[in-house]
Amino acid sequence: MTTNARRRPDAEAESFRCARCGDTVSADAYGTQHRNHCPRCLWSLHVDDRPGDRASGCGGRMEPIAIWVRDDEWVLVHRCQRCEALRPNRIAGDDSPVALLTLAARALANPPFPLDRPMA
Ligand SMILES: [Zn+2]
Ligand SMILES: [Zn+2]
Repeated sequence: MTTNARRRPDAEAESFRCARCGDTVSADAYGTQHRNHCPRCLWSLHVDDRPGDRASGCGGRMEPIAIWVRDDEWVLVHRCQRCEALRPNRIAGDDSPVALLTLAARALANPPFPLDRPMA
């Protein structure tokens, strides 16, 4: 008998499958009220106009393109591959540290000028 089983329909309805890596992502995550990106690869889906409103009809995949340091807090900047919208999203407590650091280091790893010259 499971008549007293506690169900969490809200959390279940909010979970989604990552369009990038296929992981099932629960929206009910530590450190955020509106988890909208995958903690493993950091990709998101364009479903919100404002965080959590699910009002966008776009549905495009959103690539994490940068880390923005806002008031000493890391914010992921996502860019929609379909409509090119840019969206800031707070990182969540269980986002992959390796994925975050890889993204943050991307600019340093690909400087648009040579590093082996003395600084002017
Ligand atoms: Zn993913
Ligand atoms: Zn979009």
